[in-house]
Amino acid sequence: MSQAAAKTYDPNNIFARILRGEIPCGKVYENEHVLAFRDINPQAPVHVLVIPKGAYVDMDDFSARASADEIAALMRATGEIARAEGIAQSGYRVLSNCGANGGQEVPHLHLHLVGGRTLGRMLQAQ
Ligand code: 5GP
Repeated sequence: MSQAAAKTYDPNNIFARILRGEIPCGKVYENEHVLAFRDINPQAPVHVLVIPKGAYVDMDDFSARASADEIAALMRATGEIARAEGIAQSGYRVLSNCGANGGQEVPHLHLHLVGGRTLGRMLQAQ
């Protein structure tokens, strides 16, 4: 397996500060490896951000360095939150913006869990 280039983690990014309790969040879920909270600017009736507690910049970094337990915990938590939010039957979208082309704004890996309405096509037409 190829090794991802090491990425420098900014310990003062906004989600790191939420993890340290320096900034409040609308928490919906927490366990040993994962924290989830409501997006401050929701794009749908349900818009939750699911993040690992470990210091991972993005999906590239996480997929290369995180432990199997951390990866499993993030996936398990996302499905569990979707069920708890009542969107598992109606359907939802999980996405993670990675890097510049992905349009990532906060440099701590986060999964957007979005649902509660019809979401339309995944990508806007160019
Ligand atoms: P990105 O563009 O990096 O994929 O998404 C970052 C997300 O974080 C955006 O949807 C934005 O609304 C959300 N966000 C940014 N700052 C905060 C904050 O301080 N608290 C919460 N709950 N969400 C935030």
